[in-house]
Amino acid sequence: MGEPGYRADQITDWLYKKRVDTVDKMTDLPRPLRRRLLETFSLGKVDIVRVLGARDTTRKFLFRLADGNLIESVLIPASPALYGGRTDRRTICVSTQVGCAYGCKFCASGLEGFSRNLSANEIADQIIAVESEAEEKIDNVVFMGMGEPLANFQNVLRAIRIINAEWGLGIGARHITISTSGLAPQIRKLGEEPVQIRLAVSLHGATDEVRNRIMPINRRYNIETLLSACDYYHAHKKQRLTFEYILIADVNDSDEQARLLCRHAYRLRAKVNLIPYNTVSGLPWSRPSEKRQEKFLSILQAEGIPATLRREKGHDIDAACGQLRLQTEREAVARTL
Ligand code: SF4
Repeated sequence: MGEPGYRADQITDWLYKKRVDTVDKMTDLPRPLRRRLLETFSLGKVDIVRVLGARDTTRKFLFRLADGNLIESVLIPASPALYGGRTDRRTICVSTQVGCAYGCKFCASGLEGFSRNLSANEIADQIIAVESEAEEKIDNVVFMGMGEPLANFQNVLRAIRIINAEWGLGIGARHITISTSGLAPQIRKLGEEPVQIRLAVSLHGATDEVRNRIMPINRRYNIETLLSACDYYHAHKKQRLTFEYILIADVNDSDEQARLLCRHAYRLRAKVNLIPYNTVSGLPWSRPSEKRQEKFLSILQAEGIPATLRREKGHDIDAACGQLRLQTEREAVARTL
C-alpha cells in the first residue's frame, strides 16, 4: 500500500497482541490509512455460539462463521505429551474445513459431506476466540478437528505462519501438529516445506483390508503408498512421526493388527497414539473393552514401540470431531419442521 514497513508491525500488533475488533481502534495509525484499510479489508471474526464443558474441563466450542457455516474447536487442558511436547500444556484442536470430503466411516465430520475450505484467518481466529473466552493462553495446537488439513494445504500453511510468528500468536512450531488421514502426495509436499511442525498420520488400520473398510482414502493411497510418503517425509525432516490409531471393537483391535502396526511403526521409528473410539450417535462402531485396549498396547510395548493409550477426555461432551456441529444443525433443522 506504499506505507513504511513499520506500519505492518503496528497492524499485526493490534490484530494479534492487542486483538482489537475494528480498524478504528488502531489509534496509532493515521486516519487516512485506517480509512483505506477499512475500504480494502474486513476483520472477519468467528462467533462462539455454544460452549460445552466436560467434567474434566475439556471444553468444546461451536463457532458460526460470517457466512453462517458452523465449525468446532476443542480445548484440552493438561494433555499428556502426546506429540513430543512437555506435559501440562493447554492444547486446542482446530478445524480446517467446513465438513469433510473424506468420509471416514467412524467420523461425524464426514457424515454431512464437505462444504468449503476455511481461510487462514478463520483457522487462526479459532485460537484467538478460545483464548479470549477461556481467558487462558494456548500453547499447543493440533490440526485434528473437522476437515482434512492437507486438503486445504495453502490456507493451513498460511495459518501456521500466523500461529507460529513472533508477530502473530507466537506458538512454537514444535507445538503445532498436523494430522492427516493419509494424503500421500501432500505428505511429500509438506516434507519439502521449511516449517518444523509435527506430523501425525491417522492410520487406524494396519492392513489395506481394514483401512479400506473404514477409510475410503485408502482406496486412493493404500498403506504402502502412504508409508513410502511417510518415509520421504521422515528422510527430509529427520523428525519422529506419530501414528494415530483409533481402537474400534472388532474392526482394528486384534492382536494381528497390533503386530502389523508394530512393523509399520518400526519402519518409520514412529510413535503410536492409541485412542479408544468415542461413540458417535447414528454410527454402528463401539469402543473395545479396557482389557482389549491394554492387550493391544502391551503388544506394541513388548516390541519396544513408544506408544500411549489415550484416556479420551471429553467422552461426555461428544468431543469427537464434528459431533457438536452435526447435533446443532440437526436441532436447527428439527426446529424448522
Ligand atoms: S476423520 Fe478426518 S479425514 Fe476422516 S472424515 Fe473425519 S475429519 Fe475427514
